[in-house]
Amino acid sequence: MTIIAGVALLLAAVAFFLLPTAHLNTRSLVRVNGVARIVPPETKVAGLAELEGLQTGPGSMLDLTGDVTVLGAGAPAERTLSGRPLDPDGILPDGARIVVRHGDHVLEAIRRVTVQIPYETSVEGKGVIVSLVRPGVPGERELFKGVASGKQAAVFTTSAPQNAVIERTSSAASGLKLAALTFDDGPGKFTQGVLDALAAKHVPGTFFVLGSSAAGNKAMIEKIKAAGHEVENHSWDHPILTKLTTEQIMRQISRTEEVIGGSRYLRPPYGSYDAKVTAAAAALGHKLVLWTVDTRDWETPEVGAILANVKAQTKPGAIILMHDGGNNRSATVASIPVVIDWLFQQGYSLTTVAGLL
Ligand SMILES: [Zn+2]
Repeated sequence: MTIIAGVALLLAAVAFFLLPTAHLNTRSLVRVNGVARIVPPETKVAGLAELEGLQTGPGSMLDLTGDVTVLGAGAPAERTLSGRPLDPDGILPDGARIVVRHGDHVLEAIRRVTVQIPYETSVEGKGVIVSLVRPGVPGERELFKGVASGKQAAVFTTSAPQNAVIERTSSAASGLKLAALTFDDGPGKFTQGVLDALAAKHVPGTFFVLGSSAAGNKAMIEKIKAAGHEVENHSWDHPILTKLTTEQIMRQISRTEEVIGGSRYLRPPYGSYDAKVTAAAAALGHKLVLWTVDTRDWETPEVGAILANVKAQTKPGAIILMHDGGNNRSATVASIPVVIDWLFQQGYSLTTVAGLL
């Protein structure tokens, strides 16, 4: 009996050691991010997918404002078992320590951009002589721009713009009964007629010429000067100067100056100017000169209409705008003696722009 009992006990002991122990365990203890979980024995990693805490995903692609641009395109999630990547087919040993981490979001590439802040221009006064009191200086602002999204953020000003100040003054002779006749856009085929009309009345005029026209008719420029008139600058080819760069504006002035042999005043085409134009002219020693009387001879080519405009607008110190180029100026030529006679009747003396200022 004892032998049989002894053999049976031995067999049981052998079986205990030889057979897998798993069937003896009814559960395993695993930890997910430190939280203990009881799972059935021989549970595979893949079988843990339903387990709360393992529901992880990749991060996303974000733009610089934090908005998701591509869902799931960020870094992948990390799942490790005892510091090694988790094998979904591996069986979870009892006491396994699993660490699970969501994938990080990935921020788009960002670059730093410097942009200019334009300056503003204030104009003081209402006179016809335009000069720059203070040049404008653009400011600077820095911002961050998302390379992919183009979005910008975190704008900050590194230097504030300094506004330009332009002063418009009246001529020094504004208290005297002086006036100046000025002729723009020449020289042209009506310039001789203007010269003859002025000569007949022994009156000086001021010609704001275009460099491009003067270049082809230098003899006329000499003729104007020889007759005692003043030749000044009306740009090279009549652009809207405010639309040009500083270099282009300076070229418009200096090219013309080379042809006409120096000038002191610039009448900007269309009377269009800003701080940039004024500064460019000042850099070349030029003041901007506008007008106080617009005869509108380019618009209403009738002597009566031209005279009516002169009568309505002329005051002491008047700078009267007419044209000897650009179109048929026969009405302008015909109006000159009539306008001069009226000015004389009113007690005006006529001079050049330089004589007025
Ligand atoms: Zn013009």
